[in-house]
Amino acid sequence: VGLQIQNIQDKALRVHCRIRPFLPGEDQTSTTIEYVGDNGELILANPAKRGNEGNKLFKFNKVLGPSASQDEVFKEIQPLIRSVLDGYNVCIFAYGQTGSGKTYTMTGPENATEKDWGVNYRALNDLFHISRSRRDTVIQPNGLAVPDATMHPVHSSSDVIELMRTGFENRSVGATALNERSSRSHSVVTMHIQGVDLKTGVTLRGALHLVDLAGSERVDRSAATGDRLKEAQHINKSLSALGDVIFSLSQKNAHVPYRNSKLTQVLQNSLGGHAKTLMIVQVNPDASSYAETLSTLKFAERVS
Ligand code: ADP
Ligand code: MG
Repeated sequence: VGLQIQNIQDKALRVHCRIRPFLPGEDQTSTTIEYVGDNGELILANPAKRGNEGNKLFKFNKVLGPSASQDEVFKEIQPLIRSVLDGYNVCIFAYGQTGSGKTYTMTGPENATEKDWGVNYRALNDLFHISRSRRDTVIQPNGLAVPDATMHPVHSSSDVIELMRTGFENRSVGATALNERSSRSHSVVTMHIQGVDLKTGVTLRGALHLVDLAGSERVDRSAATGDRLKEAQHINKSLSALGDVIFSLSQKNAHVPYRNSKLTQVLQNSLGGHAKTLMIVQVNPDASSYAETLSTLKFAERVS
């Protein structure tokens, strides 16, 4: 057991970086992504500097280039999903500026076919598939300790997909544009899994949190006012609180500042301890996103 726990702590935090491909209509003539290596290296080029003067090397557990498929992205995190059924708490975050592919990675494109499914659906499929072979497992996407959250027992992936759809629709109520709304709120889906180890009879409880974070971009203080500014400051505060928590966990600090945001309070039991965390950091490929990409990669570098 000691050996197993040691092993888990070593891998308690992983950071993957995914580069979104250019979209139709984007200027593909200049990119900031200079190099992507097989061992998690990424070189970011500063478009304002000549040659490789402004190049900066980053190192993550894995970098997925613009041509990576949804399947490749999921393959890298599949063991993490499976460990939920062994009783671990797992958090998967997508972090990045609006438009960098967070929702694409976590959920998939709109009207996705099976091959475009994001992490959410693939994870669910895996959990139900495995739990069917271990007949004692119960899976519940769980309301969090936040107002208006609800908990529903589910029996199949399609039950959960239905629930996620409802949640998504609720979130959009009152918003002028859905995309704008989603860039200004965190979306958290939590599944609680309870099972019995058939060999030992021991009850195992695990949880999986799938988090599509609000856009990490800095809001122009001169442009935003009133509620919009307040909201932006709130988002920045919760994202930096999340960064601080993961950073102090990676430093093995005695004090972890969970209480600085609602987000970190809600996820407290699944961050640290024997929980496993994966941050998927999303970046844009284009030169005009350089400043945001640099700030995203610096955030990721600090916590990894
Ligand atoms: P975010 O959630 O970070 O705001 P989205 O996931 O909505 O970003 O992605 C922005 C746009 O880019 C969407 O039209 C999405 O379909 C597209 N996109 C993102 N990632 C990919 C990808 N890996 N392959 C193809 N299109 C992508
Ligand atoms: Mg989104």
